[in-house]
Amino acid sequence: MSTPAPASGFSRKGWCPGAWRPMRSGDGLILRLRPPGGRITIPDLRRIADGAARYGNAVIEITRRAALQIRGIADEDDAASLRADLQAASLVDDDAQAESARQVVHDPLTASDHPGLALERALVDAAREDPALAALPAKFGFLIDDGAPRRLAATPSDIRIERTGDGGLCLRAAGCDEAVAITPDNAVAHALALARAFARHPAVIAGRFHRMKALMASGEGAGLYRDAGLGQLRRISPADPGAPPRPGASENGTLAALPFGQIGAQALHDLADLLAGSDVVPSLTPWRALWLPGADPALAEALAAIGFITDPDDPLTGIDACPGAPACASGMIETHALARELAAALPPAMRDRGIHISGCGKGCARSAPAALTVIGTAQGHDLVQNGTVSDKPVAQALSRAALIAQCNDAAMRQ
Ligand code: SF4
Repeated sequence: MSTPAPASGFSRKGWCPGAWRPMRSGDGLILRLRPPGGRITIPDLRRIADGAARYGNAVIEITRRAALQIRGIADEDDAASLRADLQAASLVDDDAQAESARQVVHDPLTASDHPGLALERALVDAAREDPALAALPAKFGFLIDDGAPRRLAATPSDIRIERTGDGGLCLRAAGCDEAVAITPDNAVAHALALARAFARHPAVIAGRFHRMKALMASGEGAGLYRDAGLGQLRRISPADPGAPPRPGASENGTLAALPFGQIGAQALHDLADLLAGSDVVPSLTPWRALWLPGADPALAEALAAIGFITDPDDPLTGIDACPGAPACASGMIETHALARELAAALPPAMRDRGIHISGCGKGCARSAPAALTVIGTAQGHDLVQNGTVSDKPVAQALSRAALIAQCNDAAMRQ
């Protein structure tokens, strides 16, 4: 919700790409889209695929916050042309402020008449009209996790509307264990009040914190509920979280995962061909996958043939890897090749506990702890066990062979 800046200022930390704020990476500019409701019609699949092939390097990504990215755009002129094409199809907002207001993630596996979707629309509309939110850091976002079970516990966000154990709703600042009880009628007003309280917090204004979780972890956000006018609300806890869904067909549809969150433009065209004549409208998900509600289970095999993961036991399931080198300018290692090697080498039980391959210490692909976290450095590979990129490595500057041997040792000791 900050003022758009020219694409040339990209290397600054904390920059959050959007259609109006493309970000430079190792393979060119990245243009990020948040289609309304996260839904992509079949014509839009083709439009996005054509745009990615014409202006980018034909690589399309889904992010952990259910946005879609087109990578490898050569320059700002091409980014502007692509944006104009997508804007004509209402896939891009009219300006950066409207685009920022769309940083609301909801559970795409809930039915289209689920209240969470209406809540998302109301939150987006209200955020667009709230000038105080323009002061929020660019990456700041909201999340609505009101499904049963809650599936978005591992999805990062700053302000969280979550289902409670008794079927009600609560509002929680990320990084804070305690939530306050809200209702569908006051959820939007209270969520925006909490966002405004964050935006006017002295430590946020001073630029010391850009995300809610960091503010809360510091202890400096202790009075935020009170400052937001929520101090009198009943304290409550969210319902226990469920596990995120695995790829594959279920009775309600099919979850088609993208290997490492990426797929080629041709695969989107192939998907459009597969869905032609059906009323399936794919949705973006925060699990780096497309959700195809109501899709014929028999489609899973055809989806796998065009590059999607639909086998819940696929070796790449459970492995998070960022683009790494050379696609990302900060990448110190080729993350995808290493991830495939580890996927083949390690037993499924280890993969199920989470493996994170990070091209550098930023850890873009995963914020939750993993059994094994590999961090690329100028000296080689650092390895963290049962932690995140921020935790102390158990070994540093490992060669690739030494790293794989050490990961295997860790798996044997499980
Ligand atoms: S974690 Fe990966 S994607 Fe993120 S900055 Fe580092 S190399 Fe790039």
